[in-house]
Amino acid sequence: MAGSAAAAQLSPHRRVALIEMEDTPGYHSTGRSAAIWVQNYGPHDVRELSRLSRAFFQAPPEGFSEVPLMLHRPVLFPAHAGQMEEMEALLADGIGLRQITAEQASALVPALRPGYVAAAALEDDAFDMDVAAIHQGFLRMLRANGGTLALRSRAGRIERVGDGWRVETSGGAVFRAPVVINAAGAWGDEVAAHASVTPLGLQPKRRTAAIVNPEPWDAEHWPMTIDVAHTWYARPEARTRLLVSPADETPMDPQDIQPGELDIALGIDRMQQALDITVKRVEHAWAGLRTFTRDGSLAIGWDARAEGFFWAVGQGGYGIQTSPAAGRLVTDLVLGQDPGEAGGILAQVAPGRFG
Ligand SMILES: Cc1cc2nc3c(=O)[nH]c(=O)nc-3n(C[C@H](O)[C@H](O)[C@H](O)COP(=O)(O)OP(=O)(O)OC[C@H]3O[C@@H](n4cnc5c(N)ncnc54)[C@H](O)[C@@H]3O)c2cc1C
Repeated sequence: MAGSAAAAQLSPHRRVALIEMEDTPGYHSTGRSAAIWVQNYGPHDVRELSRLSRAFFQAPPEGFSEVPLMLHRPVLFPAHAGQMEEMEALLADGIGLRQITAEQASALVPALRPGYVAAAALEDDAFDMDVAAIHQGFLRMLRANGGTLALRSRAGRIERVGDGWRVETSGGAVFRAPVVINAAGAWGDEVAAHASVTPLGLQPKRRTAAIVNPEPWDAEHWPMTIDVAHTWYARPEARTRLLVSPADETPMDPQDIQPGELDIALGIDRMQQALDITVKRVEHAWAGLRTFTRDGSLAIGWDARAEGFFWAVGQGGYGIQTSPAAGRLVTDLVLGQDPGEAGGILAQVAPGRFG
């Protein structure tokens, strides 16, 4: 998503090649997300990029997508009696959150166990995102502007030659360009190392998701439910199912990550402490990598030492909901343009902050 959003928005102005090692774009983190846009999530730079992305999702450019990119899905944060501090912190920190009663929470999610909710908050201004439509929209935009999508092309040797870069891929193709944008997700540090650029210390973390059938409950119109301490969440999926996650954050090396049985069981167990749902079987489960910088903010900007090397990494758990504005910021900085409102987060996302 990071690569496609930047490539698409750069493509009217420059010749752009998006280099992807897999057969299918979006095979890694992008295809494995929970697909939710929430304003009250992540550090300040993330909240700004999410806020600035909203207008794009609500009114994308002509021809971007035939389906809506966002659909309203409020978020309910329940707290049990032992989680009052977390609830206070959430309410103190968040914009547009309102406290609701346990009865109101149960009316929204009738499967909540009687007596579980000691306090609850509702974030009404949240959305499901159509990740595939967003991703395909960016790729279509890239192609429409004459850009290239090179699949099955692992960027291996990346060398500074003269005043530009030479990138050799596993297929043997060679790309030459004055600018290389590193949007390799969990592999961001590996790609930097290929280019003899000092890594930032990125840490991919595994997150697991499982699909279950909540019958006899009809969950289609429930809000997403996120435990106030972020130890699990559940989101209605494909009308009749529920996506359940233990909100795990296990440090991992970059890889085609698979879900662990224990994490799947943990997510279901935690969800069942709050919701009276019998899970007969897990219909499908997957895991993806959420990749963070050392301080949790994104890294968007020129490398402090390697000329023409640009970072667009550290999207963590917010790479979809921030993608239009993050891709716009990459574009403005690469073109040397004023980034407008996003200029306020430049110091927070500067890759040079890591020394
Ligand atoms: C379970 C889960 C739930 C999530 N929920 C949300 C959510 O609700 N909302 C949200 O906004 N975000 C969410 N996220 C986070 C979001 O999925 C990521 O932030 C986002 O997908 C990151 O996109 P990316 O393009 O940086 O990474 P990726 O999608 O992983 O893309 C990086 C690409 O680089 C390619 N690559 C790597 N090395 C090379 C190389 N040497 N040569 C060529 N290609 C290479 C890889 O093949 C890959 O396709 C979630 C993530 C998970 C796992």
